[in-house]
This record gives sequence, structure tokens and C-alpha cells, in this order.
Amino acid sequence: MRNYLFSMLSFKFLILACFLFVTTVYGQEEDNNSPNFIIIFADDLGYGDLGVFGNPSIKTPHLDKMSFEGQKWTNFYAAASVCTPSRAGLLTGRLPVRSGMASSTNRVLFPNSKNGLPASEITLAEQLKEAGYTTAAIGKWHLGHKEEFLPTNHGFDTYFGIPYSNDMDRLQGEAYKGYWKRPNDSIKTEHFNVPLLRGTEIVERPANQNNITKRYSDEAVTFINQQDETPFFLYLAHNLPHIPLFASEEFKGKSKRGLYGDVVEEIDNGVGKILDALKEKGLAENTIVVFTSDNGPWLPFKNNGGTAGLLRAGKGTTWEGGMRVPTLFWGPSILAPAVISDLGSTLDLFTTFCTMANTNIPTDRIIDGVDLTDVLLEGKPSPRKSVFYYRGSELFAARVGDYKAHFISQGAYGELGERVQHDLPLLFNVAFDASERFDIADAHPEILKEITELVFKHKSKLVRGKDQLVERE
Ligand code: MG
Repeated sequence: MRNYLFSMLSFKFLILACFLFVTTVYGQEEDNNSPNFIIIFADDLGYGDLGVFGNPSIKTPHLDKMSFEGQKWTNFYAAASVCTPSRAGLLTGRLPVRSGMASSTNRVLFPNSKNGLPASEITLAEQLKEAGYTTAAIGKWHLGHKEEFLPTNHGFDTYFGIPYSNDMDRLQGEAYKGYWKRPNDSIKTEHFNVPLLRGTEIVERPANQNNITKRYSDEAVTFINQQDETPFFLYLAHNLPHIPLFASEEFKGKSKRGLYGDVVEEIDNGVGKILDALKEKGLAENTIVVFTSDNGPWLPFKNNGGTAGLLRAGKGTTWEGGMRVPTLFWGPSILAPAVISDLGSTLDLFTTFCTMANTNIPTDRIIDGVDLTDVLLEGKPSPRKSVFYYRGSELFAARVGDYKAHFISQGAYGELGERVQHDLPLLFNVAFDASERFDIADAHPEILKEITELVFKHKSKLVRGKDQLVERE
């Protein structure tokens, strides 16, 4: 009997020891289990272009599902209203004017631009790489096409994509504006001599854009399938739906919103494939996927551009339609599903992901991003309280809480309204009036004063980086 009791006790001890061992090891794994990050960045996709953001004609079932399972952010901003500065802001967490990646002379980089994102800037990829992440960039870069500025020299292990906008390197023969009046079926991918790069080598020129969206999504799936225990960061920046619009045969003519809708539906299909790949690989529980856009819709191109929905104006402007972008976060078992109407910005991804990856935020420079971790994980209020709206290197407007003041306003690219300097700034409550229709400056001098003081403080401390966009060869 004594022997029996003894052996039972030993057995129980053994079970307890095993339990402690397993929980300790498992616990350690949990501690080291940094989440993977995927940023899917659309080009010129408007606030009103997704089903879940109210589009009545474009079907985006995968993005809609991402929204229902995750977080839909309704007051989330791009760092600028055009490509180059917007991308610089996202990858550095800094207002592009600080890195010199915002310019009032050339608003973006061109194929004959001399410079790009300076090596002195620290990208999110570089930070995550230091924390042991595998990093990959797929798609549009637009932060410098020369080798020294390419993704593989800015923290990404690999790169596959077109290094700038898909309407660049257009073969001559017709004026730019006249060309865009052509019917869509006469606009050919061969007219744009844009290169497709793998690493730093050109592998195709002109890049076949007819299936470029599909190829980018497939490349992302291949990358996901290659991953093992090492955490990863994937930056997938689609060239589309920036004009010229191209869709694969499978999607052409399928949407109710013409070619633009076909393109968005193909991007949505790619999102579905990426989420499926994560699930099949068992990575869905430890990956955060963000979907957003670099700026608002390019409205002068009419039906070949998107829509900002109820927001005013679009790409190139500091009205809401230029910079407020449709944004979704997905991460089953990590994120608290919610609709978030607090403020957020692509500038915040740098700080948030560095925090989640347990890596340091640089202290030798000003970082404009704030940490959204608690909003994502627990649905707590956002620490972001203000947004600065720059056009080129000039501050045009600022938002504090629900109120936005315009000090200068202008339409897109010389269209839809000339530049106006407002002696009495315009003031809108963009929570009540997202369309910025009802100027309430007269009724709220105290709010205008508060925003003006914040802008004055910001400007008085601002150190501008040397303009990297101005020089062309
Ligand atoms: Mg863009």
C-alpha cells in the first residue's frame, strides 16, 4: 500500500513537472513570438471605393470580411496627398517635409529625378530587420529609382516591382492630357516603358501591366509560403488603381463600375488569396494585415479615377478626400474587432509596429507617429489628437479632434479650384460635416485659436530636410 501511494505521488509529481516544463517553454515561445506585419497599400484608391466604405458598385468581399473580422478606421490619414511623400511618411514615421521627400517644385519623383529617400532616414523595414524580421517589398516604390535608393538598400531583403508610377516613361507622340481622352481600350501597356525590377535588376521592360496586380498578389503568396518561424514584414504596394488602368482577362468587364471597378476587384481578390495563404500556413493567428491607400482618388480622370465618397475633393489636395483613406486592420486573435472613428495615420504604423516587435523607436530624430497598439489590441481611445495636412512642403491645414482649419486651400493640379490664402482660416467640424461644406470659423474663434497656436508651435520647431525631389537630370 505504501509503495502504491509513493508511486502515485511520484506519478503526480511527474505530471506536474511535465506541466510546468510545457507551460514554461510555451510561455517563452509566446514571449518571443513577435507578430508578422503585412501592409497592403493601394495607389490612388479613394475613401469611397470599397464595399465596406459604402461603394454601391464595386464588390470587395474579401476586404469587407477583413473589416468585419478586424478594425475599420474611418478617420485614418495618409501622410500626404500624393505618392512619393505619402510613401516616405509611411516607411519612416516622419512627416515627409522632415526627410526632404516633400517638395512644392516637384510633388513626386520622376524617372529623371536625381535623388530619393536619403540613406540617413530609418525605415520601418530597417527597424524590423534589426529585430530579426525577414523583410520584403513588392510593387510600387517611388522613393528613388537609382540603385542606392531602392528597397534592398532601405532595409528590405528582397524587392519585386515597378520603382515608380505606372503612367511614367510614356512613349512620346501625343500630349499627356490629350492621351488620357482616349478610350480605355486604346491605352496599352506597351505605351509605358516602365521597368519591372527584381532586386536591383530590370527583368522586364516595358513591364506587362495587364496582369501586374495578379503577379504582385501571387508574389506575396509565394513569400508567405516561404516563411517559417522567423517573423516577417511584407510591404505590398500595388501600382493600381493609379492610371493607366489594367486588369487581367479574368476581371476585365466584370464589375459594374467599369475598368476602375475591375481593377479594385482584382486587388480585393489578391487580398483574399493572401489571407487564405496565411490561414493555410497557420500564420493567421500571429499576423497583422493593414490595408490602406497612399492618397485619395485622382478626380480629373473622371470615371478612370475613384471616388472619395462623401469627402470633399481628392488626390493632390488637403481637403479630406485627398488624405483620408479607407483603412482596415486584420489580425484574428490579436486585434479587438471594432469600428474606430478616432484619428490614425500611416505615420503611426512605424511606431506601432516597432512597439509590437519590441524594438526601439529612434531617439536621435523627431518621429511623428504615435503608438496605436492599445487601440488595435483593446479598442482603447487613440493617442493621436491632431493631423497636419501638407501640400508639397507647405502646411495648408490642420485637424485637432473633430475640427479642421484650412489656412490655404487649392484644388488638384490646377483644376477644381485655385490657390486661396485665407486671412480668416476656414473651420469645419469634420465629424459633423465630413464633406467640409459649412464653414463655422465665425462661430468658434476659440477653436480656431487653439489650432492656429498648435500650427505656430509646429512650424516654429520644424527643421526641413533638403528637398530631394527638386533636382532632375
Ligand atoms: Mg498615389
